[in-house]
Amino acid sequence: MPFRFLMVSAMLAGAALAQTAEHKDRTLGYDDTPYLPGGKWRVHDVSRPRPAMVTPGTGTAAPSDAIILFDGTNLSKWVTYVKGKELEPKWIVRDGYMEVVDEQGGLNTREKFGDIQLHVEWAAPKKIEYKSQDRGNSGIMLMGRYEVQVLDSYDNPTYADGQAASIYGQFPPPVNVSRKPGEWQTYDIVFEAPKFEGSTLKAPAYVTLFHNGVLMHNRQELLGDTPHAKLGTYEPHGAEESLQLQNHHTSVRYRNIWVRKLNGAEHVEIPR
Ligand code: MG
Repeated sequence: MPFRFLMVSAMLAGAALAQTAEHKDRTLGYDDTPYLPGGKWRVHDVSRPRPAMVTPGTGTAAPSDAIILFDGTNLSKWVTYVKGKELEPKWIVRDGYMEVVDEQGGLNTREKFGDIQLHVEWAAPKKIEYKSQDRGNSGIMLMGRYEVQVLDSYDNPTYADGQAASIYGQFPPPVNVSRKPGEWQTYDIVFEAPKFEGSTLKAPAYVTLFHNGVLMHNRQELLGDTPHAKLGTYEPHGAEESLQLQNHHTSVRYRNIWVRKLNGAEHVEIPR
């Protein structure tokens, strides 16, 4: 056997041995890189669990791992309260949407949630009636108490921290991307629930909001809950609470509501 061929064979055998002995297939990750802060995982850690496959929705359709709260056909995921009594809601369900009914309360989800991603589509009444806070008012009441305002804010002056896409009474949106009354609009929300230890607030709530695809709030810390004409405060509550759609006695419509528990997509604090 020519000497040169012998050398190449030996080199190939050596390379194969090194790969099996050390790391098997290094294209899948490493076990000898530096540890990330926290000391749990290495950079490109081969043993770090890989994310599960989820089929994304097309357009505004729900991804495959979402909890569908309203698919346009029924209110089975919701209850309402009248004088403190839990009742089956009687909001109108028609043509793929639901509509606020004045005589009833808000709608509360049967299921409770903490940290979530939420998609909601809503439309203010096409017929323009009243003005300011009385025109197309509803709201996404996160945990039943932190309101992302729903309002007809198309050519409808009101206080800035009460218009559509505001965190009510706290933070106005930076721009107004409202569509005309009657047109469907989208909210995509990431909500981090506040954390309590007994009666002590350990971490505030945070809201990220896209209105019609435009960023309105970027992990905005909340001052507390969102009462009318008062400063919000934090009162201890459960780690998970019902989501509520506010009944402000105007016939706002909703459709295509889905939620995902964050399941590992939480904000990660880097230890220093
Ligand atoms: Mg409202």
